[in-house]
Amino acid sequence: MIGEILTDENIEQLTDTKRKITDIIIHCSATKEGKDYSVFDIDKWHKARKFKCIGYHFVIYRNGQIVCGRPISEIGAHTTGHNTGSIGICYIGGLDENGDPKDTKTYQQENALINLVKYLAKKFNVKRITGHYNWAAKACPCFDVEQWLDDINLSKYKIKK
Ligand SMILES: [Zn+2]
Repeated sequence: MIGEILTDENIEQLTDTKRKITDIIIHCSATKEGKDYSVFDIDKWHKARKFKCIGYHFVIYRNGQIVCGRPISEIGAHTTGHNTGSIGICYIGGLDENGDPKDTKTYQQENALINLVKYLAKKFNVKRITGHYNWAAKACPCFDVEQWLDDINLSKYKIKK
């Protein structure tokens, strides 16, 4: 359910899907550092773009809470051409105060993202973990996903170039 906070108790149920998942794609909300936005804000922005609801499956708040967006049983709307077999995760932030790309992940977001990605990669038969920029001419998620995967010992999920 949109807005539901992921916990150790409900994570199994909230990540239960028969959809075949091969990819995790990471995004940022492209909002300025230090500003909080909710899944309901993103839901509104995406509906304004004529999506049926928020296009991401999970959103990571600045305080490290992981919040459900579109149910993972449904195909997302976050990466043109790569929505079918993927889960889309978005952290709030990604821009500095001038609106330029910046890795603005808080310590809590960093930990939450690592935990969520590790959990999902293990739970599903994930082949690749990528950033939006791997699939489109964008800076999103505004950090080097390949380097990050190396840093957290998930190099095996790096995109084959
Ligand atoms: Zn993106």
